[in-house]
Amino acid sequence: MSDINLTTEEPKRSLNFIEVAVENDLKEGKNDSRVQTRFPPEPNGYLHIGHAKAICIDFGIAQKYGGICNLRFDDTNPVKEDVEYVDSIKEDIQWLGYDWANVYYASDYFTQLWEFAVQLIKEGKAYIDEQSAEDIAKQKGTPTQAGQNSPYRDRPIEENLDLFAKMNEGYFEEGSMVLRAKIDMASSNMHFRDPIIYRIINHPHHRTGKTWQAYPMYDFAHGQCDYFEGVTHSLCTLEFDVHRPLYDWFIDQLKTDDYRPRQYEFNRLNLTYTVMSKRKLLQLVKENLVNGWDDPRMPTICGFRRRGFTPESIHNFIDRIGYTKYDGINDIGLLEYAVREDLNKKVTRVSAILDPVKLIITNYPEGETEIMEAHNNPEDENSGSHNVLFSRELFIERDDFMEDAPKKYFRLTPGNEVRLKNAYIVKCTGCKKDDAGNVVEVYAEYDSQTKSGMPESGRKVKGTIHWVSTNDCFDAEVRLYDRLFIVENPSEDERDFKELLNPDSLKVLRGCKMEAYLKNAVAGDKFQFQRTGYFCVDKDSTLDNMVFNRTVSLKDSWAKAKDK
Ligand code: ATP
Ligand code: MG
Repeated sequence: MSDINLTTEEPKRSLNFIEVAVENDLKEGKNDSRVQTRFPPEPNGYLHIGHAKAICIDFGIAQKYGGICNLRFDDTNPVKEDVEYVDSIKEDIQWLGYDWANVYYASDYFTQLWEFAVQLIKEGKAYIDEQSAEDIAKQKGTPTQAGQNSPYRDRPIEENLDLFAKMNEGYFEEGSMVLRAKIDMASSNMHFRDPIIYRIINHPHHRTGKTWQAYPMYDFAHGQCDYFEGVTHSLCTLEFDVHRPLYDWFIDQLKTDDYRPRQYEFNRLNLTYTVMSKRKLLQLVKENLVNGWDDPRMPTICGFRRRGFTPESIHNFIDRIGYTKYDGINDIGLLEYAVREDLNKKVTRVSAILDPVKLIITNYPEGETEIMEAHNNPEDENSGSHNVLFSRELFIERDDFMEDAPKKYFRLTPGNEVRLKNAYIVKCTGCKKDDAGNVVEVYAEYDSQTKSGMPESGRKVKGTIHWVSTNDCFDAEVRLYDRLFIVENPSEDERDFKELLNPDSLKVLRGCKMEAYLKNAVAGDKFQFQRTGYFCVDKDSTLDNMVFNRTVSLKDSWAKAKDK
């Protein structure tokens, strides 16, 4: 017996820094060797692919180490939040292949958070400040210069308690006062300079209605919710790094035993040629610059889903880019590569002619047809085949014929031979043009001894083109998508992001000729249109008007265009 390991599995990738931290904690038996994470979206928009990166690590860590991951909606700002977003977030997480142990809302903890705030007031660690937001900001100081104490900082405890209760009972206007933690106005960490922890919002909440009018700020809610729930590893993006000492400070005030959640920060996902902020994406939707959150040009999870991306391709992409401590921007080409790679293995090859012109096989008997066999997927020997009809009149792509072709044009040009995919070799004999000089019909003669599958005739033919039979095809609409923005990093451009939208990001083709096999496809079904790209059936499809989205072209034509 040989002891050579002949496994075909991919080499194991090394652990990322979060996995290393979790494994160390487990080794040390921290938090009773429990692993518990959470994914904490604010329900103020649809999830984008950046969130997918957070989802994969939050759920992935729990899965890998036998722990649990909860879904927690960070619903601390009722003005911007909505149940529509809650539902879409759940759908997107499940589509990515994850399930949460429990669904929680920050609002589930409003009473506990309130009691904790009261505790801080009683301990002399919080006070009501009646200054305007501008005055508070002015007193903050700078990273190199200490801030100034608020004139309300030493308000008596009883008065603080009374005002805090009234803040919540609707006695005061929004913005008239806030509750601040009393920490250190000279701290080198700006977040310690008496952070605001509660504010007044007079807007009904989608879950708690009018029960609350004083709402906790993010920094006062997040870590505490982690603590109340029993989270052990609280994973978030790098910008929260500077908030971590404050996160820890609040936990120190709360904790009663050895358990404590710990925050870890990883790099955000940013993608070229798009924006990744919910605020900006909402603007695109509200101002009808795209057709909704699931517009296939959007970087939202539902946009990618509608465009034809698979969960696997998104996972593969996220695996490849990894988790680090350095922010950067990822090439959208890498995501497109991942979807090509996945669809190539999975989807059926079909023929679709996007810009049709008629090809007439002049020596093929009129009225006769033949059934040809088309392999579904050469990458998958078990994928089988389907039938396509061959006849005298076909449609081919307009650019597969050229009357005066350059030397290296291996498609149809008078005197030249090509193979018709899954059918015969034909020799081009000419074309017919209209008065304006446009080609309306192309002519060719076929060789009956060259049917695909027949023994090789020894003939060298350099080109193969695809086709559909004119009496076995139907018309459909095809939507071609391009980058949503014309610059690589719209967020760093000094121009407004809306001025940077690509005016050609959507091209709609009508009267495309689809092989009959596609007639039964339903929304979400995915195919490779041979020689063209990967496409899926759009939800706008009807029986009379099928609509196909281009997920991605076959090759990275964008990279080629850039090199020119
Ligand atoms: P946005 O800035 O787009 O509005 P957000 O951070 O406000 O996003 P949340 O709903 O608060 O959105 O985010 C939920 C989780 O997703 C957080 O843990 C956050 O760190 C993470 N997240 C958000 N954007 C990204 C991103 N681009 N890459 C990785 N993780 C992200
Ligand atoms: Mg946020």
